Amino acid sequence: MENSTSPRLNALSLVSQGHRCPEISAPQKSMFETFGQDVFSLRLMRERLPKEVYERIKNITLGSQPLDPHDADVVASSMKDWAIDRGATHYTHWFQPMTGITAEKHDAFLTPLSDGQVISKFSGKLLIKGEPDASSFPSGGLRSTFEARGYTAWDPTSPAFVLRQAGTVTLCVPTVFYSYTGESLDRKTPLLRSIAALSREATRLLRLIGCPEVTSVSPQVGAEQEYFLIDRRLYQARPDLVMSGRTLFGAKAAKGQQMEDHYFAAIPQRVLAYMNDVETRLFDLGVPVHTRHNEVAPCQYEVAPIYEPANIATDHNMLIMGVLNRTAEDHDLACLLHEKPFNCVNGSGKHNNWSLIDSTGRNLLDPGSNPWENLPFLVVLASILRAIHLHSPIWRIGIVGAGNDHRLGANEAPPAIISAYVGRELEQVVDGIIAGATSPAKAKGKLGQMDLGVSALPSLTKDSADRNRTSPMAFTGNKFEFRALGGSQSVATINIAINTTVAKTMADISTEIEKLSAKEKKSGAEAARQLLPKYFKEHRVALFNGDNYSADWVAEAQRRGLPNLKDSVQTLALYGTPEVLSVFESQKVLSKPEVLARQHILLEDYIGRLLIESDLTLDLGRTVILPAGLKWQERLAGAAAQARELAGENEAEMAAYQDVRALTKGLRLALKELAEALKAVNASEAKPLQKAGLARDRLLPATNKVRAQADELETLVDAQLWPLPTYADLFWSI
Ligand code: ADP
Ligand code: MG
Repeated sequence: MENSTSPRLNALSLVSQGHRCPEISAPQKSMFETFGQDVFSLRLMRERLPKEVYERIKNITLGSQPLDPHDADVVASSMKDWAIDRGATHYTHWFQPMTGITAEKHDAFLTPLSDGQVISKFSGKLLIKGEPDASSFPSGGLRSTFEARGYTAWDPTSPAFVLRQAGTVTLCVPTVFYSYTGESLDRKTPLLRSIAALSREATRLLRLIGCPEVTSVSPQVGAEQEYFLIDRRLYQARPDLVMSGRTLFGAKAAKGQQMEDHYFAAIPQRVLAYMNDVETRLFDLGVPVHTRHNEVAPCQYEVAPIYEPANIATDHNMLIMGVLNRTAEDHDLACLLHEKPFNCVNGSGKHNNWSLIDSTGRNLLDPGSNPWENLPFLVVLASILRAIHLHSPIWRIGIVGAGNDHRLGANEAPPAIISAYVGRELEQVVDGIIAGATSPAKAKGKLGQMDLGVSALPSLTKDSADRNRTSPMAFTGNKFEFRALGGSQSVATINIAINTTVAKTMADISTEIEKLSAKEKKSGAEAARQLLPKYFKEHRVALFNGDNYSADWVAEAQRRGLPNLKDSVQTLALYGTPEVLSVFESQKVLSKPEVLARQHILLEDYIGRLLIESDLTLDLGRTVILPAGLKWQERLAGAAAQARELAGENEAEMAAYQDVRALTKGLRLALKELAEALKAVNASEAKPLQKAGLARDRLLPATNKVRAQADELETLVDAQLWPLPTYADLFWSI
């Protein structure tokens, strides 16, 4: 037994023998030819469908016409022929249930006939509607297991594609997922509804203030994805990473991110080969990945696509996460998307860049060279500030999750207080308008330095000095960058929140403009100008240009009355409140049963994750870490006894032994407490909200206590005996 090798040493030995790396031959075709080759795009439909059918489908994708069932057969047949040409054997409805990942169930195209022949079959009916066995997806009580009907329905606004994995090729049809009674069971449906609500209210507002040419408005999203890459053999020797996505143990490595030498540094060869493979696969799928670079923490990286309409960007982010994971396997790597895989170094976020483009192609968040004159920009800005000020709990719900709780407010990501940053110059515009000025010249006496006239910059805050990396919602020239979303989270949820609340505040503002212009016989634009100072004054509290990571801001935010929902349980408690419900209901994004079901699902998810992490901590602590500590303790006891025998004294040896003994004893006690806490939570029959609170209050401190003892033990035990790959092993082996 003495000589057996630890799982850690085994894994390290495998790593030292090299790794698999798929042969990268020079590409046969350039990415300009291959881009989107696995997507059944509008362009392909134009080529393949009868003209009238194509025109009708195009109008559906633009959101202006419902689907004609007769067209579905034509599209299905064409889609099937194309997919089979590309090697597909199966098709699946591809959807985004509340688990936060995508779901698929593959069916073969092949259908046998009575005479033994086989034909390929894919009808309009199969394209439009599917009925997966829905009983195993979270429904928050909307559907009981004995009436498991759930349907998937084709979402023509998002193109079908073929997915290649492990030698298989499958046609994926993006769908929405709903219950027998018509309630949404997924994240896509409310996203599509929120996009429609925002388009409706933004169009109404713009037309009121003098832009009659606008017929629709589309939110655009560019989601930057952060991730960690570690060697797969080491990953497999860490059951905590495999099962919970994060390390539940691990002492600080001597070298973490303190030298600040990783961010934007040269990308390691092995990682570059992986990134290249990821990008090639994503280009085939029409995902416009554009940027790749090292991130702040060791072995942390980022990939960012070019922005797209919010629903497409959401599907594409799902594809990006899937391709990152699958490609890693081929390279003997593991991709970690969790918000906080390691203590002591930064976690991973997903920056959600968001803007609004109207039907004329104008970016409504581009302030232009003279924002004072840019009424659409100012009104949209006021709507966003009002949304943050009045409805920030809804935004916080959009980033809720046990994983993200470890990251928010931990000096690496914005705190849970939602505020906006707009830069000094725009802040001066806002303050000028509050003070009654209508132009920079009129505001000059008050504002000092503002001289937009000589600025050659196309927009105000392009200057990188004017960046605020600590704000949850930072204006970056012609878009807002929302920075508090977690690495593994779907972008759907935060965009549902932003779109819905901004639609709501735009509706409020439009109604007020309509009233004022009717009462005072003014144009909508004049009324809007008259109302702007009031809106900016009222909602200026949502603006904060300072350091969001500082303790001062927490105190200041409290004075301003901004909510600071520190954890998921506090946040989810608000999900069913009348304030939140009324916003979702007024914009027809979620009904009351849908909101309550989602609250239930998210609470269950929170409890489930904490229970898994606690079980794992207990299990690893008892069966892996404590035995290693005891083995070392035994050796130290032997050494102390031997020293005493040989030299008559053993002070140093005794001290070493006692240090370890104190820790194994502490560990044992902490494990006992954790076992008790787990028992209490498991036995609890409280409602999900109370149970989630109990899980937070009992399990988090108990697991932290176990970890503290174990991590300290790791710094003392002989490295040859330590059973788990250490942080240094994980960080510095690729
Ligand atoms: P950063 O501003 O974070 O340094 P970039 O300017 O490259 O980086 O943009 C990051 C992300 O923001 C990319 O996905 C990019 O396509 C997206 N983006 C750029 N402009 C817009 C816009 N108008 N609306 C939404 N996203 C945008
Ligand atoms: Mg960015």
